[in-house]
Amino acid sequence: MQVPLLDLKAQYQTIKDECLKVTEDIYESQYFILGPHVEQLEKEIADYCSAKYAVGVSSGTDALLLSLMAVNIGHGDRVITTPYTFFATAGAVSRVGAIPVFVDIDPDTYNLSPDKVDAVIKGMPEADRKTLKAIIPVHLYGQCADMNEVMRIAEDNNLVVIEDAAQAIGSEYNGKRAGSIGDFGCFSFFPSKNLGGFGDGGIITTNSKDLYEKLKILRVHGGHPKYYHSQIGGNFRLDALQAGIVSIKLKYLDQWTKSRQENAEKYKILIKEAGLSHVLTVPFEKENRHIYNQFIIQVDERRDELKDFLIKNNVGCEIYYPVPLHLQKCFAGLGYLSGEFPVSEFAAGHTLALPVYPELREEQIVYVVDQIKKFYA
Ligand SMILES: *Cc1c(COP(=O)(O)O)cnc(C)c1O
Repeated sequence: MQVPLLDLKAQYQTIKDECLKVTEDIYESQYFILGPHVEQLEKEIADYCSAKYAVGVSSGTDALLLSLMAVNIGHGDRVITTPYTFFATAGAVSRVGAIPVFVDIDPDTYNLSPDKVDAVIKGMPEADRKTLKAIIPVHLYGQCADMNEVMRIAEDNNLVVIEDAAQAIGSEYNGKRAGSIGDFGCFSFFPSKNLGGFGDGGIITTNSKDLYEKLKILRVHGGHPKYYHSQIGGNFRLDALQAGIVSIKLKYLDQWTKSRQENAEKYKILIKEAGLSHVLTVPFEKENRHIYNQFIIQVDERRDELKDFLIKNNVGCEIYYPVPLHLQKCFAGLGYLSGEFPVSEFAAGHTLALPVYPELREEQIVYVVDQIKKFYA
């Protein structure tokens, strides 16, 4: 049996006619950049995420970058974030000239640990603490970070909160949607995200009218009015084709999320029934509405061998992420050492993502669990 990690072709077959229609409409209009389809999507996403505003941008990475630019974070400023995330989270901080300050994660959720954030801020030299401007919690794998605590820390220390919600569209924390809690919510339409386009794209949500206006100006090189620049922005525009496709997919998102949640539940039951609970840990749902961008298992032993075995037996699986960011070569200058963030380092060495996409069939989940059982037998 073949079980790919993700099957976008299966999903496409279910929405093909609608996608071809909107694509043709856009071709006929020859209106490709921003415009009515982008504006419509912005309204729909703001609504879906319970935020007042949304600004379509060129990618999830650019959503992070533009948010940092909108609050003038730059050279010499410091930004707290997690080392256990996709590279873009910390990459964006460095690209505006600021310094990422890494803090270890909670072992249950893999999200930023508020207690450790408190401790790091407390331990900072006064001069460094003065340059601390923002915190970027990542809602990893589709589950929200501990946002009550993040918001308390932000308030106590006067920090901007940028939610990296690239993997978490529609996920909730205490009934609040990801992207509606901090100052900014950054989303990605990369094809493998739960709401993916047919190319790159992203969007920023915010509840602040001022920040909304600022983002829209910076998205077009900072020109306001056009060709008059009191600030430097960039080309961060979303194109109409991506907006058109994402709008169509958004109508199905809740249904797809439900299927992902059901698949996760099936895994949990089958893993328990297979007697595998002592060799692997399944995702811990701490906050409500986990949207399962990934279904992550953690194994104590032989993770890399398990991965090879599954791939050899036609089960797609992947390691997110094999090297935590504080140990990446490009960040060597920050001076972090191996062993400094033990929870992140353990996760990088022991987790594995299994297929959980909405179109996955029950017999495929049964097959995956059978293969894991075979490996550990
Ligand atoms: C995918 C992702 C991004 C970047 O999004 P792109 O659209 O690929 O630029 C940023 N942060 C996290 C956590 C992601 O998963």
